[in-house]
Amino acid sequence: MKAVIANFKMNKTTKEVEGYIDEIIPQVKTKKVNIGICPSYVALGAACKKAKGSNIIVGAQNVNENDKGSFTGEVSADMLLDTGAKFTLVGHSERRSRGYETESSINKKMLKALSRGLGVVLCIGENRAERDENITQEILQAQVSSALLGVYKNELKSITIAYEPVWAIGTGVVASNGQIEDAIEFIRGVVATLYDEEAAETIGILYGGSVTENNADGIAKIKGVNGALVGGDSLIVSKFIKIISAFDK
Ligand code: PEP
Repeated sequence: MKAVIANFKMNKTTKEVEGYIDEIIPQVKTKKVNIGICPSYVALGAACKKAKGSNIIVGAQNVNENDKGSFTGEVSADMLLDTGAKFTLVGHSERRSRGYETESSINKKMLKALSRGLGVVLCIGENRAERDENITQEILQAQVSSALLGVYKNELKSITIAYEPVWAIGTGVVASNGQIEDAIEFIRGVVATLYDEEAAETIGILYGGSVTENNADGIAKIKGVNGALVGGDSLIVSKFIKIISAFDK
């Protein structure tokens, strides 16, 4: 199943998220694409109520790796589940690059989320310097292998990988079709080495990085791409719907 996921980042108040969901529900009837929306933590409960009974799945942008305790400002997997959220992003580059995440914390978050029955969208991708140094594959290999450490094959159905080259996120510079196809093929190869061919073929892999209503059709046609993770252009319902439509084929 394909998926198109909106990452609202630190945008939209609860009221705005509610309005967005009210507006989008009657316009998206697809049965071929899972539609995810990741608002801020504080809007999760209201978003889940609004989305109930629709084909919109609500997720968080992050989760803490601990069960509970003295972690001021953090939110646990059980708290997310309590809001009705069904999945969480893990390892978004805006968190990695600010030093909020390490490969080890990402792996712990992955294991915690899975153990609680939360789906995970694992975000990976090389930065500009890494691409220029020709070490994209090493970076992707390291990110995938460390995030999946201790994950059993039967848990992969709860995981989607989002390949998001850091230099393409929020920059308006989209990766070329060839770069996307090569990276996704490489990631499937890493999954095949860690598990097997079946796992590599069935795991969902999204592309993220300056996906817009204008380039989504082209991206949807790239071999191996199962959907998109969208920041900027997910904030406006009409644009996000066009992106969903591109994958609804
Ligand atoms: C993102 O934040 O995951 C993202 C892909 O953002 P944008 O679509 O704005 O590049």
